[in-house]
Amino acid sequence: QKFRDAQKFRHKTLNRTASTESLINHNDDNQNNQNHQNHHHHQNDIQTINQQHLQNGGGGGIDANKTITSVISMSSTISHSHVRRMYHQKSLGYEGLDYDICENMLHLEEENNARRKRLGNNYLEFTRWLVIFFIGALTGLTACAILFSVEILTNYKYEKLMHLLNSSNPSSMIKPYLLWLLTNGIPVFLGSWLVTYMAPVAAGSGIPVIKCYLNGVKVPEVVRVKTYFAKMIGVICSVVGGLACGKEGPMIHCGATIAAGISQAKSTTFNLNFEIGLSRFREDHEKRDFVSAGAAAGVAAAFGSPLGGVLFALEEGASFWNQQLVLRIFFCSLVSSFTLNSVVSVFNGERMGSPGLLNFGKFQDIDYSFYEIPLYAAMGVFGGITGALFNLFNMKLTILRQRWLENRKMLRVFEAILVSLLTASIGFALMNVWSECTPETTEQTHFPVTYGCPKGQHNVMAALWFNTPEATLKNLFHNKDGAWNVRSLTIFVITYFFISCVTYGLSISSGLFIPGLMLGATWGRLIGIGLSNLLPNETWIHSGKFALIGASASLGGIVRMTISLTVILIETTGNLSFGLPIMITVFTAKWIGDLFNEGIYDIHIDLSNVPFLGWQPPSDSSRIFASEVMHSPVTSLQVREKVQNIVEILSTTHYNGFPVVDENTIHQAVRTFGRYRGLILRSQLLVMLKARIFQEYSLDQPWKNLNSLFRNSYPRYPNLQQIINELTNEELQMTMDLRPVMNPSAYTISHAASLNRIFRLFRALGLRHIVVLNDYNEVIGIVTRKDLAFYCTVRFAKH
Ligand code: ATP
Ligand code: MG
Repeated sequence: QKFRDAQKFRHKTLNRTASTESLINHNDDNQNNQNHQNHHHHQNDIQTINQQHLQNGGGGGIDANKTITSVISMSSTISHSHVRRMYHQKSLGYEGLDYDICENMLHLEEENNARRKRLGNNYLEFTRWLVIFFIGALTGLTACAILFSVEILTNYKYEKLMHLLNSSNPSSMIKPYLLWLLTNGIPVFLGSWLVTYMAPVAAGSGIPVIKCYLNGVKVPEVVRVKTYFAKMIGVICSVVGGLACGKEGPMIHCGATIAAGISQAKSTTFNLNFEIGLSRFREDHEKRDFVSAGAAAGVAAAFGSPLGGVLFALEEGASFWNQQLVLRIFFCSLVSSFTLNSVVSVFNGERMGSPGLLNFGKFQDIDYSFYEIPLYAAMGVFGGITGALFNLFNMKLTILRQRWLENRKMLRVFEAILVSLLTASIGFALMNVWSECTPETTEQTHFPVTYGCPKGQHNVMAALWFNTPEATLKNLFHNKDGAWNVRSLTIFVITYFFISCVTYGLSISSGLFIPGLMLGATWGRLIGIGLSNLLPNETWIHSGKFALIGASASLGGIVRMTISLTVILIETTGNLSFGLPIMITVFTAKWIGDLFNEGIYDIHIDLSNVPFLGWQPPSDSSRIFASEVMHSPVTSLQVREKVQNIVEILSTTHYNGFPVVDENTIHQAVRTFGRYRGLILRSQLLVMLKARIFQEYSLDQPWKNLNSLFRNSYPRYPNLQQIINELTNEELQMTMDLRPVMNPSAYTISHAASLNRIFRLFRALGLRHIVVLNDYNEVIGIVTRKDLAFYCTVRFAKH
């Protein structure tokens, strides 16, 4: 039942976006209608041919019949194909990555050359490690830059503000208030402007987009250099601007962009292209492995948690694992954490001791007995429920934002400024209205606001608001019992819940870990205080310990990560023996939260219509067959094809992959069927056209150095229109031999295969296309990752 509810909810959101889409694109639709009708006629014809073909060529028996009926039912449900079209339109900007290595003749030649040179492969491996080292080091340095800038700027800001507050009398509070507004508003304006206008993809924590990238989806501009700068400077601005966000999440995105930049040794933003022997890494496969290492390095630097980084890459991203990759990722994480640690220790003149941006500090008195465990599980339940609520609110808000602010950049910047001003105002109002005082000795606040309190005491509410979130978090963990008042904490946790919920999703670069931890630390501390009031003689009750458990529960309930989150928390507390309680809390929070909705990152991925493939195929997917999922008819190319035909096909379709079939086996009228030989990508065709690799020209030219040709145009391939303009009439009559370039062993599947099987293939191998064949090895359909994602999200939501 719960599962169905979740599906229903998914469907609802999709419907909603679909309906707004149709509203916006109404005119567009009218225009396309004509085309579409023609297309439809055509398609019906082909459909019948297709069915006949299936009948003739199909395996016979029950299966073949079943697949045919499902093909028919697919074409007859108009709403389904309509939704499918919608889905494709919506996710148009997201293309698949080619994680599968194309083992064409050029590749083999390259391998052979490397072997002949003996050292070739070792050299490659060596450069790979070198690149990994630099990724780690640079990620660590980035973390240092963020850390120091934030520290210096916030110290300056709160120092000034505190003096002004403490020295002004209660009747003239307007001046400090204005200063607070200004010091919040200006940095946030800068950060938001940078993100919104320079790299919109840098908004938010960046974890969802990196997740998508590692899942095999190319999100535009996600690993560009300008994204890196927007992300890094943006996060400094938003933390200095006093927003309810942290600087940890963005580190992961920063690490990923660094990895992409270094491994490719070129940048489109700066129009740079270094020829330093790294061109072998210019393919999706290599780039993505580096990016997963970079993301892990980001986690390592953010939390001082190298193991957490590796597990993060495992849990959230890289579905494609091998031992070598794990080793490299681990190395990268260690280097990153080490770099940060050494720079910070040199700067502070201490011994190495701060491996990450976020440090929970040492928990001295932390231990537990087994009878406390149910209590922690109960806190996990509470964390799951509050997390689900947080995600629900944030989802509603995101839908509203998508509807009203999607393309209004000015408004997005204004929204961010507004929220920052609101944060300051709420903090200021609470400080004034509900001010409580505690003796100064009980606390280690950096900026004690004494205003409104008798001598020797300071304002508790101000201690919560008047600092970076990280510092407040640490105080919540470590201050002695009695440092915080119940009333102040209660009011704070409620307001902070809404503020942080509104903050996540603004057009700024901001992390979610800190607000999540902060909320939990506050209510955990409250539980600790409550318990010690109830049982005053028990010595095992330290409210700091409960704050830690609460923080784990709350964050677990929001992000729903399990292994990596547990390990990150263990590493940041530096206490291994307390791992079990943390694990139990995080897991319970996840289970309880999952009863209501998904984790916040998945919600955001869903809402942006990225064709994301989850871990598991939908539950009854073994009853659905390839012939239902596939797209047919397929536009195929022959092994030797006239240039004119290729140009025509490329300019009339938008397909990214074309099956290559034997000559003269193709059904000429519809250019489909034919005996399967391989698969060629649009990008490969474009490069071939651009370089004029035509049979007539290259008869006596061996296929030398063609690989570098393909590598140099990665990842922005030549423009088709330009190529067409340059081609002469004679050249249009020439032929292209696709065999050396196509992937001769691209994965195929029989039409009788189940969706379940296809899903597992895609997920395990990181495929982009799979060609569906009938029993005679003839091409009858094609399935892309998007078709699959559509089936897994939309189609199943209907039932
Ligand atoms: P991506 O663009 O990321 O590779 P996609 O799903 O958008 O994924 P496209 O190649 O853009 O794939 O094709 C769009 C639709 O057309 C998909 O539903 C796909 O199944 C179908 N399709 C892809 N290639 C062909 C082809 N050669 N002939 C017929 N249909 C195709
Ligand atoms: Mg596409």
